[in-house]
Amino acid sequence: MTEIRRVRVALSTLFMIALAAACSPGPSQTAPPATDARSTASPSLETQIARFAPVDLKVDISALPASEAAALAHIIRAAQVMDGIFLQQVWAGNPALLARLAADDSPEGRARLHYFLINKGPWSRLDKNTSFLPAEYGVPAKPEHANYYPADATKEDVASWLATLVGEGGNPNSARGQASGFFTTIRRAPQGMATSLGPFYWVPYSVEYQNQLAEAAGHLREAASLTSQPTLKKFLELRAKAFLTNNYFDSDMAWMELDASIEPTIGPYETYEDEWFNYKAAFEAFVTIRDDAETKRLSVFASELQALENALPIDPAMRNPRLGALAPIRVVNVVFTAGDGNRGVQTAAFNLPNDDRVIKEKGSKRVMLKNVQEAKFEKALVPIAAVALGAADRGKVSFDAFFAHILMHELMHGLGPHQLPGNTNVRQELKELYSPIEEAKADISGLWALQQLADRSVVSPQIAQTMYTTFLASAFRSIRFGVTEAHGKGIAMQLNYLLDQGAFVVNADGTFSVIDAKIRDAVAGLTRDLMTLEAHGDYAGAEALLKRMVTIRPEVQRVLDKLTGVPVDIEPRFVTAREMLKR
Ligand code: ZN
Repeated sequence: MTEIRRVRVALSTLFMIALAAACSPGPSQTAPPATDARSTASPSLETQIARFAPVDLKVDISALPASEAAALAHIIRAAQVMDGIFLQQVWAGNPALLARLAADDSPEGRARLHYFLINKGPWSRLDKNTSFLPAEYGVPAKPEHANYYPADATKEDVASWLATLVGEGGNPNSARGQASGFFTTIRRAPQGMATSLGPFYWVPYSVEYQNQLAEAAGHLREAASLTSQPTLKKFLELRAKAFLTNNYFDSDMAWMELDASIEPTIGPYETYEDEWFNYKAAFEAFVTIRDDAETKRLSVFASELQALENALPIDPAMRNPRLGALAPIRVVNVVFTAGDGNRGVQTAAFNLPNDDRVIKEKGSKRVMLKNVQEAKFEKALVPIAAVALGAADRGKVSFDAFFAHILMHELMHGLGPHQLPGNTNVRQELKELYSPIEEAKADISGLWALQQLADRSVVSPQIAQTMYTTFLASAFRSIRFGVTEAHGKGIAMQLNYLLDQGAFVVNADGTFSVIDAKIRDAVAGLTRDLMTLEAHGDYAGAEALLKRMVTIRPEVQRVLDKLTGVPVDIEPRFVTAREMLKR
């Protein structure tokens, strides 16, 4: 037990050394290509890595007072600890494998380490989790139960054990609530040690990751003592306490109340890595600075929402005369991310917390990572535009329009029909078709809304002039991720609808263009069609529309085929964080 703990303590340090090795321009960048047998494996690994365009993530922190900058440095140090914990959560073999990879300074070794750090393990997340290491490393298939459950247990074993426990899953104080809760691992009871619980027992995260969490808590308390912003101080103190007590409720509540220039998100949150039950939360961190200019733009948009609702291009009886309160949205810039928040494809926005008890009392908060979106725009969307758009359209792609549309998309989820007559709502009536229809609605009505605001000079005319072409290029970026989930389906539907309306056209050379004379009416038309479907809770109509429209047409596929050399996503380099830690 103590030996394992020692490895764990060393892990965050090891991770930082490995990261420095993988990122420094080592022999792999300067040496001529190796010609021995091993080189057959490396081109494909290089190609896998090249899908993530490296990008320097910078944030202007010059406006931060010294006290806040000092606090920020400690928050970054706490965040670094999350990388080590997450590696352990993904797979028990990760720490030893990382040590082995870090010790190999051959060009292949460096490339393997580099891709390991991108994926936080030996499996390529963009390639259905296939291992990218040669057979000699003995890497198994990626465990669906991660390291949250005993490696040798089956899903059925654990499920039937859970069923024997007293209490309900939703009650965190009951045995079953603990065992199926966010913040425990499940371990096998030692041989011969009869327990009243049966073959397994649960371990609180505060015990399982005791040393690392003590280290992270220490940094958060230091940060709390330095900051002069009361809501930040409160969150940091309570989160440090949660790391040691395993009770996250109070600190989640404090996170909802944060109103500070530094907006940190740190702790166990998302459950994607638990592919068995989606019960267990992975550790992550997003250390960010609030973007005041965008926050102001958001409040301008928010103040226009009722006027937009009153003007929706639908039957006036379907409009909502009194919109409810807005869920909080924060626009921030990333200084540092770690753990589950920095693996494979980068997170561009998130909605937390996930604890229903907190959501019931405080709702949830949407956080938009602006500089991450900007990096994705420059490294993926602009090159896609160069391939997908006609020559005249290429110049009409702008980040300002891209980001204004993302904000408007979020706000438009709150507009249009929701509650329906007969004590039901759109989600209930459209069932599994709700998400693709609602996502497409938020997209297309977001364009409609920005056009309204541009017509009234609430937003700049440049946004209206570039948003349709930007949206067209962005559609190709989204479809690359596939049309199996809600956003992809919604995008395919919109693209095909606008093609059918003649608002998007295919040029002789296969590129796409926006037809200015037709796009406004087409956007309003699809907004009307989707919102009317929702107002009628029309499941059959939604089904027919999706069946007809969710398809990748040959002219779209031909463009997608030309995008193979364009990066899929980014690999952030946290230059601002690195500079801060050097001070
Ligand atoms: Zn959405």
